Parts: sequence; structure tokens; C-alpha cells
Amino acid sequence: MQLTQQIKIKPTTAQEVVLNTLSEKCRLIYNFALKERKEAFKNKLEGINYIKQQNDLPELKTKYPEYSWIYSKVLQYTLRTLDADYKSFFQSYKKDKNAKLPKFKGKKYFTTMVYNQSGFKHRKGFIELSHKHPAKTKLLFKIPDKFIFEKIYQIAIYKKDNKDYYLSVTYQKPELKYKDNKLYQAFDLGVTKHTAVNSKGEFIEFINKRPDRYWEDKIQKAQSRRDHCRKKSNRWNLLNKNLKLMKRKSANQLKDSQHKLSRKIVDNTKANTIILGKLETKKLSQKNKYSKGLNKSLQNTGNISRFVRFLTYKAKLIGKRTIEINERGTSKKCCVCGKLHNMPLYKRIMICDCGNLLDRDKNSTVNIMSKFLSQNGMWTSYQQFAGNLRKTGLVIDMTRYSQEAPFVR
Ligand SMILES: [Zn+2]
Repeated sequence: MQLTQQIKIKPTTAQEVVLNTLSEKCRLIYNFALKERKEAFKNKLEGINYIKQQNDLPELKTKYPEYSWIYSKVLQYTLRTLDADYKSFFQSYKKDKNAKLPKFKGKKYFTTMVYNQSGFKHRKGFIELSHKHPAKTKLLFKIPDKFIFEKIYQIAIYKKDNKDYYLSVTYQKPELKYKDNKLYQAFDLGVTKHTAVNSKGEFIEFINKRPDRYWEDKIQKAQSRRDHCRKKSNRWNLLNKNLKLMKRKSANQLKDSQHKLSRKIVDNTKANTIILGKLETKKLSQKNKYSKGLNKSLQNTGNISRFVRFLTYKAKLIGKRTIEINERGTSKKCCVCGKLHNMPLYKRIMICDCGNLLDRDKNSTVNIMSKFLSQNGMWTSYQQFAGNLRKTGLVIDMTRYSQEAPFVR
């Protein structure tokens, strides 16, 4: 599996001088090439494309030798980036004639430099990037020991917020082969907690810490303070900077907690198959189109789909598998008899006249598990699951599933 790791680095002053010079050259190349593209577009000239611009590089290097200070593939990659930016412009131009052309990169801009496949050396604890700057300062960066890369595909160096330098390392991580160990764990992913049930009929809850909640209120207040100032005034700028910082902290903490929780879930479940109720994000957003709190609900689905992505790749790495199934109706259906109930979000318990009285999320997970096992015709596993649930006092009616399923035996 291909993964990407961001690593903060601290270049020395001498290294920074080299980096800035090289990046500045890349910026100029980007702008030259963009100018050429824009003019060709204006004058309806053909044949100005990536290949042509790449073929022009040797001549440019003869004329301006400084450009050969940059590792040649990095320079090519800059043109490739421009090409991609330009192509995406054309995509939107086809639909909208007012689409904006890509912009020239300003002087303050640190152009990201991409070393694809070659131009870097890597040994434990260090990464070195090639260049031919006359200062001969090595671009050798120490990286923390916890990062172990067997095979690196690409390294990009970039600057974040015009302040900190980062390496973005794309590398290969071996996956373990998936083996069905006949143990399953179904999840109902929620906003504040994730509820699971396993083949043994045991329920497990994972609390979703949601550090972003802590920031919500603070961010709202800071935003209103900022909006009371004149735009771009000194005070506005200061408050705006603060606001951005808080937003970033909130987002980072949320991402971090999602990483930790997904790791915990994947590591702690004995089941090699993890079943996730798949959210119908599209429908949800359409339904809420005109209702208040749209942003919040969309944000939550965004958070959950990222969480699903984390679970999926972390599971893959250790030989487990996630399977998403449509969770439609799983919260409304009584997991015992199959009767449908109106279940607005505030109703936390499923109460059914069949005698079922169960936490709504637990009820959902049982439905998700039943749906998965029956849809895949895994009747033995399903019987075991139902049998284990029966020991806890939950007697589910399996017959309705065998009727619903397309392949009854
Ligand atoms: Zn019922």
C-alpha cells in the first residue's frame, strides 16, 4: 500500500538559503510556462503543451545556467504541476466561460519541490535531496527514528504557512494478506460514539472524543470579534491570525484523535472482517439542503467518511478487511422482529411491542450484522451469531432474513 507521511524539518540557515534559491527558480519556471500557455490560449496557438515546454528546458539551462542547479526531474515536475493546473482550468472552462486561469505565483510563495522516483537518498534517520547549487550545502535532513521507510517513491519539500518546512514522503508499506477467520464485528458509526457487536453477541462502545467540539464555541466567538473590526485593519489581521490558528488546532486534534481511535479499533478487534454501516452522504445532504445546521451535519459526515478511510487502510495493513454495507433502515428496524419504527434522533431506545427494549445504536449494529451475514448467505455464521445473542436474552427472528435474501438454501 502506498502511504504518505508529513515530517517537519528544521533546515539550517545555510540550507534555507539554498532551498529558497532553488524554489525561487521553480517559481519562475512555473510563471514563464504559465505566461507561455496564457499567450497561446489568447492567440489560439496550438502545440504549447507539457512535452514542448519540457523539451525547451535544455535550451533554457544553456542560456541561464542557474536552472541546472535544480535536480532536473524537479524542474520537470514543476512543469507537470502547471500542466495539471492548466488542465483543471480547461475542465471548468468547458462548463463555465468565466472560469479563472491559473494565477502567477507571487514572490513570497515557496514553490513545492517534488523529487519523484529519484534525486534523493535515504538511510535510517536521514533524507538527502540532490541539487547543484554552487554553495554546495548538503540538503541533508534528520528525520525522527520512528519513521522507517522501506521503499520511497517520492519526496516533496514544502513550506507551511510561510513558516515551517516539511517533507512529504510517499512510501510503500507492505500489507498482510486477508484471511477470513470467521469472526465478524459490525459497527454503527455515530457522532459521539461508535457501537459494535461481534460474532459472540458482545457489544462494545468506543467513545468519539471529538476535540473539535471544545473549539467550536471559541472559534465562533473569535469569528464574531473579528467580524466587528474593519476588514484588513491591524486588529482584524491579528484576530484573523488567531482564528486561523484555532481552526487549524481544532482540525489537527480531530484528525489525530481519529487516527488513534481507528488504530485502537483495528488492533483490538479479533475479527478479521469489520462491517461498517455505509452512510448515504449524498441523500443526507440533499435532504438537509434547506434545513438549518446543514454545515454541521455535512461536517459530521465528512468526519465519519475520513474515519472510515482510516479504519480501512489501517485494517488492510494488518490483514483485516472493512466492508461497507448500506445502513438504510437499520436504525428504524427492530432487530428482533423486523418491525419498522419512527426513530427520531432523540429516541435513544428501541422499544417494540415484540418485547425488544434495546439501546438504539446496539439495535442498529445487530441489524447491520444480520444484514451482512444474510446478504452474503453466511448462514452458519448467522446462526452462531443469533445463538450467541440468545444467550444474552436477545432472540432475533432469522426467518425474515432468509426470506429477504436472494439465495435461500
Ligand atoms: Zn420488535
